Amino acid sequence: MSSSLYIHIPFCVAKCNYCSFNSYAGLERLQERYVDALAVECTQVASGGQETPLETVFLGGGTPSLLSNEQLKRLFGGISAEFEIAKDAEISIEANPGTIDTEKLDTLRQCGVNRLSIGVQSFNDKELRIIGRIHSAEEARTAVANAQAVGFNNLSVDLMYGLPGQTAKSWQQNLTAALSLSVQHLSLYQLTIEEATPLEGMIQDGRVHLPDEDAVADMDAITASLLEKRQFMQYEISNYAEKNYQCRHNVNYWNNRDYHALGAGAVSYLHGKRVKNIADPSHYCALLEAGQPVHAEEECLQHEASFRETVIMGLRMNKGVCTDDLQARYGLDFEQVYGGIVQDLCSRNLLERGKKSVYLTAKGRTFANLVMAELV
Ligand code: SF4
Repeated sequence: MSSSLYIHIPFCVAKCNYCSFNSYAGLERLQERYVDALAVECTQVASGGQETPLETVFLGGGTPSLLSNEQLKRLFGGISAEFEIAKDAEISIEANPGTIDTEKLDTLRQCGVNRLSIGVQSFNDKELRIIGRIHSAEEARTAVANAQAVGFNNLSVDLMYGLPGQTAKSWQQNLTAALSLSVQHLSLYQLTIEEATPLEGMIQDGRVHLPDEDAVADMDAITASLLEKRQFMQYEISNYAEKNYQCRHNVNYWNNRDYHALGAGAVSYLHGKRVKNIADPSHYCALLEAGQPVHAEEECLQHEASFRETVIMGLRMNKGVCTDDLQARYGLDFEQVYGGIVQDLCSRNLLERGKKSVYLTAKGRTFANLVMAELV
């Protein structure tokens, strides 16, 4: 059995203008049923037997911190009743600054949560309003301070760059604000415009304007320079951490290792098989209440497809992929599978070969989508 568990909580106070995740505003009345349904799915999954204790548990969303204190206690009680959890397990939860007060932070600590990923996105109130966040910059600062006050010492802040109206200067101010909070981890995502989101409409009808390519390149340069000075190591395309604070759950994911997943729309990956749950939260609850399975789609990866996927996901990390590990795991030789493509990517300074590893160059990380498209 996998040693990682993901749990999806699909509720949000309001839908952000850029968001295309499986998340819903206005479904608070379903939360109670949803927590019950998760308990049923948890029992089903755990009944498959457990070979190793869970090393990581990750509550993502949506907004997991929107669950009430009672619901959180019930959910974590159910997980620890069904699964053995390693003593030093990383137990993370995503939190929205508009949804965590000191009492909730205390509850999370009591539930065993030891890593908090706070979705700040920006420390500029104007930028926050444009992207439709429910909180202010000041509330975000208070959330981080409160988390530290109740004893959290493994904190991550999410920021977005390339936002409408954002300049290199305001990005620098954002990053400086995040670094002033003494957090251990930063996730920095470049905004992508998803289809059919309100933000797409706002851009199309000229209400807001995205920064141009040069401005985004300047933001990337600011990130590299500021974080290096502060000993934040980039370990994945969008993720930076102080020593020993990489997100273990996500590293397992980028290593393309097995993980369980519970909840509406959650995707598990076990023994080469990817299974996606029903996305609609009401339907998900109804099926579990009726004792029915909640699987919506299954995909069994062929051996070489799985190899290629492991390469692509592994290359997201700065350390890249180890060709010996790939050989041991798949019995396939990296150079034989990719032939001249690797040589070509290396000659274009997108990829680099180490003694037993292959990794993206700085230029390769900037054009990661292009590199991945050639290796898929
Ligand atoms: S809080 Fe997160 S999941 Fe919810 S709408 Fe905003 S971006 Fe999407």
